[in-house]
Amino acid sequence: MDIFNKTRALFHLPEGMTYLDGNSLGPLPYAAQERVDAMIRDQWGELLITGWNKAGWMEQPSRVGDRVAKLIGAEAGHVVMGDTLSIKVYQALASALELNPDRKVILSDSGNFPSDLYMAEGLIRTLDRDLELRIVEPEDVEAALGDDIAVMMLTQVDYRTGRMHDMARLTALAHDAGAIAMWDLAHSAGAVPVDVAAANADFAVGCSYKYLNSGPGGPAFIYVAPRHADLVNPALSGWLGHASPFAFDLNYQPGAGIERMRVGTPPVIQLAALEAALDVWDMVDMADVRARAVELSEMFITEVESRCPELKLASPRDATQRGSQVSFTHPEGYAIMQALIAHGVIGDFRAPDILRFGITPLYVGEADIMNAVTALQNIMDGRLWDRDAYKVRSRVT
Ligand SMILES: *Cc1c(COP(=O)(O)O)cnc(C)c1O
Repeated sequence: MDIFNKTRALFHLPEGMTYLDGNSLGPLPYAAQERVDAMIRDQWGELLITGWNKAGWMEQPSRVGDRVAKLIGAEAGHVVMGDTLSIKVYQALASALELNPDRKVILSDSGNFPSDLYMAEGLIRTLDRDLELRIVEPEDVEAALGDDIAVMMLTQVDYRTGRMHDMARLTALAHDAGAIAMWDLAHSAGAVPVDVAAANADFAVGCSYKYLNSGPGGPAFIYVAPRHADLVNPALSGWLGHASPFAFDLNYQPGAGIERMRVGTPPVIQLAALEAALDVWDMVDMADVRARAVELSEMFITEVESRCPELKLASPRDATQRGSQVSFTHPEGYAIMQALIAHGVIGDFRAPDILRFGITPLYVGEADIMNAVTALQNIMDGRLWDRDAYKVRSRVT
């Protein structure tokens, strides 16, 4: 049997819904529901405070981090879970800047997710030492790697178009220029094969609620290369990153290695959901997931282009330059997406005109792709999107 029929059966997929938005929020794994139910009942309910020791809650951020490490090619013991991605971006960037104290420029690109750029702005203001955030076009990053760059901070896969940077190549170029390389893997972890160790990345961060299916608000991860792990000085020096939190010293002493990137109390319930959600990755090979995603993406692009010619491909046509999502543009993109959602096909919209579809083979197959294209064609041919109700913007798009 096709392995992806087996993995699909592990997820709750609502009746009548075609879900192409796993790049924003993964669906519910049945195992996560069961694990969370059991955790709440047997651990929170029965163990109460003793759960920190008896149920291993305190080790959970690094125990789960080790499993995420395998998905991003990180060395064991160098990834820890916690907080949200924006917080992890701040921590990694602050530490990266400290490793390159004589330089003033943070280099990023216009394909980065705004929160990463906002966190950099806030950090720059707080540090108040004339740092500059320089944002160039994605294709100009290489040329911008001059001897003034302290940190190259990039998101590998563009959240709007799926365009993918070559992590190993840009990291090597950043190092040649004397810069620290920091990667956001929000749209890479669980989407494409990643090898932070082989790429020689200095820092990496990412979230777990997209392709790793930990549920809304699931914790983020942070990786610090072993060569830096005992040198970095955490900007967010919370008690659980302390060498011995329960000594209650009045002064901060960083914990060993990646442990120092912990901040406060971990989200134990959400980590339980993630821990169960990660089991599916033990059944599949990332290379197979990638091959299947490429196959489904190619099918989607071919069908949409032939049946909905008004939609223009916004993603790279070359699959090797693309993550695990496919995007199209149309001036009425928002209304088209609302109409599509009303017809049971869930993708999302990113301003100003992008219709975005996540291709996630663990639970998306050919029938879903064909359903989505048929719905899209009906909406375009019949101008079904042209209704006031589909043009009202919701808070989350
Ligand atoms: C999804 C995403 C975020 C979201 O950050 P949160 O703090 O988890 O809300 C940040 N950066 C990138 C690149 C993302 O794709």
